[in-house]
Parts: sequence; C-alpha cells; structure tokens
Amino acid sequence: MPKVKCPRCRKETEYSGNEFRPFCSERCKLIDFGEWADGNYRLPAQSANLSDEELEEIIKESEKRESVE
Ligand SMILES: [Zn+2]
Repeated sequence: MPKVKCPRCRKETEYSGNEFRPFCSERCKLIDFGEWADGNYRLPAQSANLSDEELEEIIKESEKRESVE
C-alpha cells in the first residue's frame, strides 16, 4: 500500500481509502485549512504543538468563517 506523510503532523498514513488524504485525519485537514484561511501558515513549527483546546478553537473558527461567507 502506498503511504503518504501527513503535511500537518508528518505521520505516515495510508494513501488509498483515506478520505482525508493527504492528511492523516479530519483534524489535521481542518487545522491545515483553518491556517490557510487565516493566512498564518508561516508558523508551522509552533502550530504543530498546539494544545487540544487551541485545536478546537481553530476548528471552530474555520467553521464560523465558512457559515458567515
Ligand atoms: Zn496528521
């Protein structure tokens, strides 16, 4: 099976059958999307160490933004 590295957390993940590819999970996908939307993608090292609370914030923010636009 081909594997890809998640661009967010660098974890190796199956490529086929993964609906969140190239990410390992929905969480990584949402975080990445949220950061692009915020335009603060220049802090990858720091954002990789976010706490669960901060992650929830980012996900909530990106959802809020989607529903507004
Ligand atoms: Zn990941």
